[in-house]
Amino acid sequence: MFIRRQFGKIFFFNKRSIFLRFKIKHFYSCSGDFQRFYFRLKQTPCPYCKSAGSLILHGYLSGNHQTISGEKIIRGRRIFCSNRNRRVGCGKTFSLLAANILKGFNICANSLWRFLNNISKGMSKIQALKKLNLPFSDSTVYRLFKIFSHRQSRIRTLLLRQSPVPQLPFINHPPIQTIVHLKSAFKNFPCPITAFQLSFQTPFL
Ligand SMILES: [Zn+2]
Repeated sequence: MFIRRQFGKIFFFNKRSIFLRFKIKHFYSCSGDFQRFYFRLKQTPCPYCKSAGSLILHGYLSGNHQTISGEKIIRGRRIFCSNRNRRVGCGKTFSLLAANILKGFNICANSLWRFLNNISKGMSKIQALKKLNLPFSDSTVYRLFKIFSHRQSRIRTLLLRQSPVPQLPFINHPPIQTIVHLKSAFKNFPCPITAFQLSFQTPFL
């Protein structure tokens, strides 16, 4: 018979032995945060097979710098659920990203936030982009905004866990409502999108 107690994010006691398990992370805030995750890796269950004890670091995730052509940046780390050397993992890998990285995009979270914030101030998409002085084409920015618009319902559902919808004068523009809600939910953070990814441990887009 299992006895279960909770203590922060640490839980699971059973009759014969004590297992400490930690929630899986998908984003980290800084090198110290990554180190804390790394020290707990052996007690962290794989997101696929749920077994603990098989996760190991499996190299870096690199990508292109958003403004400097040809320069590579470290976007995060790859974690492997090892099935080698008699380990019982499932053999799958997953990513642990820096919180200011947007999965699948070159633009960083802070730049995307500045772009969206400019739009919430009444700028057009092209004006909002030019203000950032980033080397992205107009079509890239339109595509990015379209993706953001399509994912609003998921974003707003998560934001409601953090804070209620702010009282606003009537704005008949759902993307701006979402941007304002995001700003309100993470008003104490310099980049609400980075804070969103850290808080909910899920990609913003
Ligand atoms: Zn696994």
